[in-house]
Amino acid sequence: MTKARFALVTGANRGIGNEIARQLIDKGLVVFVTSRDVDKAREAVKSLGDSAIALELDVANETSVKNAAEKVSGQTSYLDVLVNNAGIMFEDRMLDFDIGNINKVMQTNFVGPIVTSKYLLPLLKKSANGKIINISSEMGELASLEYGGYASYRLSKTALNAFTILLGSELKATSVKVFSVCPGWVKTEMGGSGATLPVEKGADTAVWLATENKGVSGRFYSERKEIDW
Ligand code: NAP
Repeated sequence: MTKARFALVTGANRGIGNEIARQLIDKGLVVFVTSRDVDKAREAVKSLGDSAIALELDVANETSVKNAAEKVSGQTSYLDVLVNNAGIMFEDRMLDFDIGNINKVMQTNFVGPIVTSKYLLPLLKKSANGKIINISSEMGELASLEYGGYASYRLSKTALNAFTILLGSELKATSVKVFSVCPGWVKTEMGGSGATLPVEKGADTAVWLATENKGVSGRFYSERKEIDW
């Protein structure tokens, strides 16, 4: 009998996270489908089948992350894949200096993945092949910052990419790999209806890194290829 593979996806009740969960389940993984609202997680698992487990996890609330990690530990002694997908975006400019929005975005898109990784790392280290996949954006690429717009979001994704490099480097001696992934411009609530890609494509690179033995830890990927910071 082959050993079960376990994954956890944040913000998996809709959008790209939901599609990543669906594709991981199609590839045979058992997936903790998490949402900050447990009812939304329960609703989401209805269409994902028996390999989907609903769980409450608000990445902006450390107690919620800790509780979720304890619940995961109650069901498995190891975790193979963590997808830090949950994210929010504001349409702001650096000159507006809305500190409230900057705090909210940094808490969700940057601190959230750090806290979630911290509490799940012990389980990831018990996998023979643990992976942390941070869903980032080309809007956080250093070269793209000069275009401006969506300033707090860009800052959060640039910082998230720095986290990928640092954690990847610190985990070099372990079996856990860390990646940043840009899903492309995807038709979701965040991406809007003018986006060019369906969620199936947006989920592809994250699922590829999660399930194949590909990619260099601490690097940034899009369309199954390494891209610049
Ligand atoms: P989306 O449709 O707006 O979905 C965002 C998800 O994040 C929702 O499930 C939302 O939950 C969840 N979320 C927000 N705050 C949370 C929190 N504190 N704790 C837990 N979950 C939380 O966005 P998406 O397009 O699928 O985006 C997914 C990821 O891809 C994000 O990190 C985004 O930055 C990245 N991305 C998207 C695009 C694009 O074109 N769509 C491009 C580049 C990168 P609720 O339902 O409760 O709000």
